Amino acid sequence: MKRYFLWTVGCQMNAADSAKLAAGLAKLGYQPVEDPAEADVAVLNTCAVRQGAEDRAYGQLGRLRRIKQERGDGFRIALMGCMVGLRTTELEKRFPFVDVFARPQAFDDVIVALGEEPADLGGEFWPDAIGEARGPTAFVPVVHGCDKFCTYCIVPYRRGRERSRTIDDVEHEVRVLASRGVREVTLLGQTVEAYGHDLPERPDLGDLMAELSAIDGIERIRFLTSYPKDMTDRIIASVAALPKVCEYFSVPVQSGDDAVLTSMRRGYTVSEFRDRIARIRLEMPEAGITTDVIVGYPGETDAQFRNSLGLLEELRFDKVHVAMYSPRPGTIAWRTMEDDVPAEVKHARLQAVEALEQGIAASINDALVGRTLPVLVESVGDEGTRTGRTRSGKLVHFTSAAALGDTPEVRIEKASAWSLKGIVANPALLG
Ligand code: SF4
Repeated sequence: MKRYFLWTVGCQMNAADSAKLAAGLAKLGYQPVEDPAEADVAVLNTCAVRQGAEDRAYGQLGRLRRIKQERGDGFRIALMGCMVGLRTTELEKRFPFVDVFARPQAFDDVIVALGEEPADLGGEFWPDAIGEARGPTAFVPVVHGCDKFCTYCIVPYRRGRERSRTIDDVEHEVRVLASRGVREVTLLGQTVEAYGHDLPERPDLGDLMAELSAIDGIERIRFLTSYPKDMTDRIIASVAALPKVCEYFSVPVQSGDDAVLTSMRRGYTVSEFRDRIARIRLEMPEAGITTDVIVGYPGETDAQFRNSLGLLEELRFDKVHVAMYSPRPGTIAWRTMEDDVPAEVKHARLQAVEALEQGIAASINDALVGRTLPVLVESVGDEGTRTGRTRSGKLVHFTSAAALGDTPEVRIEKASAWSLKGIVANPALLG
């Protein structure tokens, strides 16, 4: 039996890619191992969005190089994911012991380097290789790549242009996942509302979610990540109308200042963004909405930063993911802009966002105390402890006999900024 070691870092799309690769390798007779020293092939599925993620991959590469030197056999190393671009010359020089460099989702390159036949896996997106779910939830990529080219982002250069899977292909995968016990699927795309614009019938995300709603066993459908310009009224109305689709939106704003948004080439104004949030809340007053913000973008002034803080205060998101700008090689900002906001200013801005959001999130969550909400059990711990999520994406800890994938009603007793604590409403499920 051939063995593989697979290491993954980065976003949910990377996690889904690794699950797909693992399923493909399993079909070809490979077995996973935890220790790369026991593997025939080691695959590092990397991320280049932050320096920290790259540094972790470098650490793994050093470890694999030592294993290769010590073993001196046919041990093969594949470097895959967003660290690998169109031109690999520099990587080849720096890491000559790596056998194959594969861009994100270039699974076939890895398979060919192993001397295997990619055609055995059913063509583009490997429809016959469906990743094993870890528990009752699963990620399902539905649109690959990104056409937006925001100035700070490396993704379009690494993942290519937007390409949608057909509804039939996605439906097949979700049916298989449901038959394996999955109860909730999260549909993934870098800009998930771009789904379908490149398909002959031009379905939208709402059409896809309507089809998936008919699958027995699937109780919840989520989607990530939203792009404000692609988020049409029609898609928002579909989320509101389809009972299985959770009222949860992850919609990055990145800045609350029009000049910064223009410089970032985000393609919308603050007012257009505000309009999308208002539309969601009009249709779904209890929707969970999270956002992402970059602080210290080149040229960001104190006044521009205060505009971001003001917008966060006004729109009151359930969660804000805040990052300090850092130039990523190959991006437009890296080529054309000076990283001119001092590190200490970036830190202070990051802390200001975190402090503001902590108060907002705590007060939103406090308002849920006393409510009874359905919670899908995602993990089961010792002594009856359970963790799961509400439809709007809130993390809930409680004690119960409920099994993985069950959706008990939970009465919320305590709240903090980041999670809720509750008690199951049905005494029979107390455990
Ligand atoms: S929308 Fe912008 S930030 Fe998001 S993946 Fe595309 S280029 Fe990157």
